[in-house]
Order: sequence, then C-alpha cells, then structure tokens
Amino acid sequence: MIIDTHCHLNDKRFENDLEAVIQRAFDADVKGMIIPGADPSELPRAVEIAEKYDNIYFAVGVHPYDKEAFDLSYLEEHITHPKCIAVGECGLDYFRLPKEEAQKEADKAAQKEIFRKQIDLAKRYKKPLIVHIREASKDSLDILIEENAREVGGVLHCYNASPILLELDAHGFYYGIGGVVTFKNAKKLVEILPQIPQNKLLIETDAPYLTPHPHRGERNEPFYTTLVAQKMAEILQIDRKTLENIVLENTRRLFKAFF
Ligand SMILES: [Zn+2]
Repeated sequence: MIIDTHCHLNDKRFENDLEAVIQRAFDADVKGMIIPGADPSELPRAVEIAEKYDNIYFAVGVHPYDKEAFDLSYLEEHITHPKCIAVGECGLDYFRLPKEEAQKEADKAAQKEIFRKQIDLAKRYKKPLIVHIREASKDSLDILIEENAREVGGVLHCYNASPILLELDAHGFYYGIGGVVTFKNAKKLVEILPQIPQNKLLIETDAPYLTPHPHRGERNEPFYTTLVAQKMAEILQIDRKTLENIVLENTRRLFKAFF
C-alpha cells in the first residue's frame, strides 16, 4: 500500500474527474493522500475533499509563489480541523525571482518571513512541516535550524537533491521522493537516494505536476506513485513490497495519521 504524501487534488485540473482519479489510485493500492496547502483560496476545496474520504488529509500553508495571499489567522482557523495533519507547503523558491537586484532581495526577504511564521505555526500546534525548497537549499537549511524546526520535523520536496539537505535528517526531516526520480536526467537524485536513511523515505507525486516517465507532459495523479515506488525499489535494490512497507511506516510515524 502506498500513500501519496503530496498531491494537489484541489487543483482545477482535477475539477472534472476527481472521483475517477481517486478510484484509480485506490484500485492500484494507493490508499491514502495528503493535500498540501499552496494558494489559500484553494483551501476550502481541500477541506471538502478531506471530509469526503477517510484516508485523505490536508495541510494548511502558503507556497512561496503565493506569498502575497499569506494570512496567518486564516490558516489558524483551519489548523484545528481533525483532518489537518501538517503545515505547508511552505519554504523558499529562488527559481522565479525578479531580475532587478533590490526587488530580488525584497522577494527573498518576504519569502523568508512567511516561512519563519509557518514554522512557528507548526510548532505552536505540534504539526509536522511540508517544506518546498527550490534553488534555495542553504537558506532553507539555515532557517529550519535557526527556528528549531526539529521540534516538529517534517518532509522535504527533493527538487534539487542537494546533498546539503541530507543534514536535515538529524533534525527530524523526511525526504519526499516523486516522479523526478524516473526522469532520464535525474542523475543527482538517483545518486543521493541510497544515501537517505530508508526510515526517512516518503513517496509523493506533487500531482498535477512532475509526472513520471513515461507520462511526462501529461497531468500527474496519485496512481503514478506506483511508478515512483517501482523506480525507487530498483535503485535501492530491494523488492517493491518491502519498500512500500518501509515507506508506509515512515508516513504513519511522521504524520500520525490513521492510514
Ligand atoms: Zn506541491
């Protein structure tokens, strides 16, 4: 059994066939999902989906791309919901910064400020963090350590597969492995995967984004975690069932959810 620990089921691209998407996953033994927060305007839809299905949970948080919409009290209104199991996705993303130097620095500062506020939120409500890091490994690492995020721990999206992020293992962090591991140009992640302790591995899709090979370019969906699990098992040279069991235990330990 696989849990997709990161899929945006509340995304508009699932509007017309969400039930079929979820059923396709369930039929393939992908029995649970976590919907991370991103744009707060999509949070009510995440709550609605989580209330409808036993094994679907959500997180409250604001993605760095949506930082203008950050509203702490709005997140606090939803964090005590019984299906809310994490804070995020929050973090730093330096991939799309403004070109002009002063604007670039202002954007980074604003990202850091709401990242710190969300780490504080997670600590106050004792929820693990879902952390998005893109081309910002060093700054993210520093903030997570400075803010003592180890009190709650969490999971990192492995976009860049930067070796320095392995340091966060010692701070209670897990590593979400997604479709990128199946890409032909994913050499870095393939190299780093065996260095991650197996009791820190999670599986995710980031659907509707980052669709695994051979479906790149199509819409991603939780069913495709099966391709991620297969590829991880090959790289780690363990059988897929063993891998799935390890990852399932990890998922339960981090999120304390009843998957
Ligand atoms: Zn995401």
